[in-house]
Amino acid sequence: MVHVCVSLGSNIGDRTGNLLTAYNHIMVIKGIQPLKFSRFYETAPIGGPPQPMYLNAALSVQTTLLPHQLLEQFQRIETLMGRVRTVKWGPRPIDIDIILYGDEIVNDERLKIPHPLMHSRIFVLEPMAEIEPDIIHPVFQKTILQLYKELRTKMKEV
Ligand code: ADP
Ligand code: MG
Repeated sequence: MVHVCVSLGSNIGDRTGNLLTAYNHIMVIKGIQPLKFSRFYETAPIGGPPQPMYLNAALSVQTTLLPHQLLEQFQRIETLMGRVRTVKWGPRPIDIDIILYGDEIVNDERLKIPHPLMHSRIFVLEPMAEIEPDIIHPVFQKTILQLYKELRTKMKEV
């Protein structure tokens, strides 16, 4: 079993309902067991076109699935929930990203783990710091809580 951190986001339609629906879809996947689900955080969109505010959450699970199998399952749920890929970083009913997969590093054109922008995204780090503060980022060798605090400090400086 591998310990995996997942980031969820929604900014179209019933955002709370979308996060809960995505959670329900993830929980029935064979080979996935839930550990912790964060509270929901309202965040401003970053990048992409002007778009509504997001609702974000973090989820940690244990899984026997491989990284690419997980990605396939999450993309299936995104499509099922009405996600149409148009513009990069555009609005979406649900976005499901794999943030960490144990301490493994994946780097190919379809999948990058640790998620390459996670340490600069407060909407990823804040919910994750709530549920899994002590997990260590395998590249930076820092805990999620450390990364979150560092980003908070950086944001105050500008
Ligand atoms: P974003 O999540 O950055 O807003 P998208 O959800 O549109 O962007 O994903 C674009 C592509 O990112 C997907 O087709 C997927 O193959 C790729 N990708 C790379 N690494 C990851 C990851 N760790 N988790 C989810 N998708 C990833
Ligand atoms: Mg995504």
